Amino acid sequence: MSQTHQTTIPQLTLNNGVQIPQLGFGVFQVPPEETQRIVEDALEAGYRHIDTAAAYRNEAGVGAAIAASGIPREELFITTKLRNGEQGTAHEAFQNSRKALGVEFVDLYLIHWPVPSQGLFTEAWKAMEKLYANSQIRAIGVSNFLPEHLDTLLPAAEVVPAVNQFEIHPTFQQQELAAKCRELGIAVEAYSPLGQGADLNAAAVKALAGKYGATPAQVVLAWHLAQGTIVIPKSADSNRMRENLGAVSVGISPAELVEITALESGAQAGADPAVAAFSQM
Ligand code: NDP
Repeated sequence: MSQTHQTTIPQLTLNNGVQIPQLGFGVFQVPPEETQRIVEDALEAGYRHIDTAAAYRNEAGVGAAIAASGIPREELFITTKLRNGEQGTAHEAFQNSRKALGVEFVDLYLIHWPVPSQGLFTEAWKAMEKLYANSQIRAIGVSNFLPEHLDTLLPAAEVVPAVNQFEIHPTFQQQELAAKCRELGIAVEAYSPLGQGADLNAAAVKALAGKYGATPAQVVLAWHLAQGTIVIPKSADSNRMRENLGAVSVGISPAELVEITALESGAQAGADPAVAAFSQM
């Protein structure tokens, strides 16, 4: 398959008017030394939205791929995230990320984890609001924020987060959190959208894939897209990168989407944001 899907990826409009490609490419656990090649492959496949983080230690590889691609900067959407250990020095941390990426501005900057035990996320947010006002960031948001973290942040915030990026996949959906975000005008972005691959083996997913001549990953991603969720699947394999982009062409009926929604089983793949305090992040 050699076609690209860049013209068909839907764009969503964030609460500040900025547009984001609904289907992007995540680089968590992509080794720094392989990142340039893998992101070049993703851009070649047609991705224009790349999700990295300072904690992934691969921002420089993302930046090298962007530079090598020759794609105009304004056609790309680049997200990076503030490390837990730098919530007290967000301004400096942002500049380090921006330089590592080799860009003048970042499209979306997220607080990676709330780390409530640290008590610093509101301070970090105030610093990010200043960076946003200075036009080096097009949108600011949060990641792994549970309802109680939003309830703490919002009364102190002048800018409502544009995005909350958290774990969502058929076997772990966090529907109440997603509904709260949508009510607040915060776009919902699913990380580990394939359940890190585990959700692709579900019988309901395989059956729909068979019916539509699609793959299990395409079915799961189409389920996310139908709900208006932003998705950032990761693949190190260029065929699977293209396969995942092909999800935009898979149309599943509302009744069949319910069969996937019924797979909820509380199968959290990542950490619990209420207590997670990764010092290495
Ligand atoms: P995903 O749900 O994207 O799953 C990735 C896994 O699925 C990899 O093992 C990949 O293998 C496999 N895979 C991908 N496509 C296919 C396919 N078509 N068929 C079969 N297997 C496939 O999990 P991630 O945890 O990587 O999440 C995606 C992104 O979300 C991250 O890269 C990161 O950007 C973000 N994230 C953010 C977090 C946060 O705290 N904010 C936490 C976790 C993730 P292979 O590479 O071999 O194709």
